Amino acid sequence: MASSYKLFINGKWVNGSSGKTFRSTNPATGRLLGVFQEGNEKDVKKAVAAAEKAYPKWSELPPPTRAAILFKVAELLKKDKQRLGRLVTNEMGKVLPEALGDVQEAIDVFEYMAGEGRRFFGHTTTSELPDKFAMTIRQPEGVCGLITPWNFPMAIPAWKMAPALICGNTLVLKPSSDTPLCATALVQILEKAGVPPGVVNLVPGPGSTVGQEIVKNDKIRCLSFTGSRGTGEWILANAGLKKVGLELGGKNPIIIMDDADLELALEGVIWGAFGTTGQRCTAASRVIIHKKVKARFLKMLVSATKKLKLGDGTKSTTDVGPLVNRAAVEKSARYAEIGKKEGARMLCGGKAPRGKGFFFQPTIFSEVGRNMRIAQEEIFGPLLSLIEFKSLDEAIAIANGVQYGLSSSIYTKDVSNAFRAIQRLETGLTYVNSSTIGSEVHLPFGGVKGTGFTREAGIEGIDEFSHSKTVYVDYSGKLQKAQID
Ligand code: NAP
Repeated sequence: MASSYKLFINGKWVNGSSGKTFRSTNPATGRLLGVFQEGNEKDVKKAVAAAEKAYPKWSELPPPTRAAILFKVAELLKKDKQRLGRLVTNEMGKVLPEALGDVQEAIDVFEYMAGEGRRFFGHTTTSELPDKFAMTIRQPEGVCGLITPWNFPMAIPAWKMAPALICGNTLVLKPSSDTPLCATALVQILEKAGVPPGVVNLVPGPGSTVGQEIVKNDKIRCLSFTGSRGTGEWILANAGLKKVGLELGGKNPIIIMDDADLELALEGVIWGAFGTTGQRCTAASRVIIHKKVKARFLKMLVSATKKLKLGDGTKSTTDVGPLVNRAAVEKSARYAEIGKKEGARMLCGGKAPRGKGFFFQPTIFSEVGRNMRIAQEEIFGPLLSLIEFKSLDEAIAIANGVQYGLSSSIYTKDVSNAFRAIQRLETGLTYVNSSTIGSEVHLPFGGVKGTGFTREAGIEGIDEFSHSKTVYVDYSGKLQKAQID
């Protein structure tokens, strides 16, 4: 029988108030992984109250003391990496090496942010008046609400929890309803590492109840959301005067110039388009290819794609795991039909194989027009569109001609082309001679345009969960007035 799991509020594993449960299943096999207490608005309020109560003590701890707990989290994650990696594969489907990468990202961010406990820098500067000292210090925001998706079920909650905690905030986490088991395992590790009661609270449950209460609850001062553009827009309109962080979708291009190393580009395209079965916010969903090399590259690409093996991500023979759920398969199938109707040429894939599991074949479209829906909308599945260009200017215009702006890449041996692209591509990340995916936690991550405006990770990850306080110390012994002659 599958295990049952509870909410984590004020340091205790408790039942939800709704009296309902929901299930998490393996998308490759259909196996039941766990039955979860379903939280509701009342549970969010309880969790917020616990986080408010825990806040004064936690926020007043010296940051290196909080850091010691974060280092412990990283250590426990390392010890448990193999088990947690398998859990990621079993719950959301990505192949095991990528699932272990997901856990590694969580380890890296806890270590990195723990290091921030001994920096946490403000500025000192001069004052315009004599005998006056000016500086900034960093302050936490208060209770934070974290709402996360399923595609990086360890890394994304960790990317938010680690900086929130080092800054001195307390928090309520609502994970995706597709991956409550990964979130539970992560919170169990934080509990084991000695995070005090009330500092971290976990309330799984639907976006329409738990998520919306987090968005609207005015005791939550800072909200960090990663997910789709539609949800992000709703959140922005309903969050009131909270500080809101948004990490939304992408329609990420790889530009391949006529001087590119095509073998290298091929590896990058396959990894970018079909890694995590195309379910990364940074997945490459458009290849913008120079007319001169298009025919040669297409041949290489179709041949390599047809060799990819679909299957259970825990098997070493699998290249591409399942999609996360039935709705995702239906969405990929819908876009395969849309692409055909729009007049693009489907060169391989396009079908969900019969049998168990939420699989969809890696699919390539050529002769794609830059304004077709398959070239504009985020599909979040293994579908790739090839768009032809004749000049770098045209390639950059195509790349920028979408509502999103998360990641981009260019393959070229010409340094001038590379730097022009770096300057002009409207994305938060640009890779040269590498795929659109592969962020490292000590550098900022985030997008522009319809992807949102937040930066997570790196030193800027601290800004999301803290603010500067400006401090003036006047030791002149008299009233000095700034700006007054
Ligand atoms: P989603 O449907 O927007 O859901 C994300 C989270 O929001 C889930 O926990 C969901 O809960 C919750 N939610 C849904 N409606 C809500 C509401 N009205 N108020 C508050 N919370 C609500 O996105 P997803 O399908 O999980 O994730 C895929 C999307 O995330 C893609 O667009 C992808 O590009 C994006 N993403 C972006 C980044 C980035 O860093 N830019 C990284 C990863 C993924 P339920 O699960 O209960 O519905």
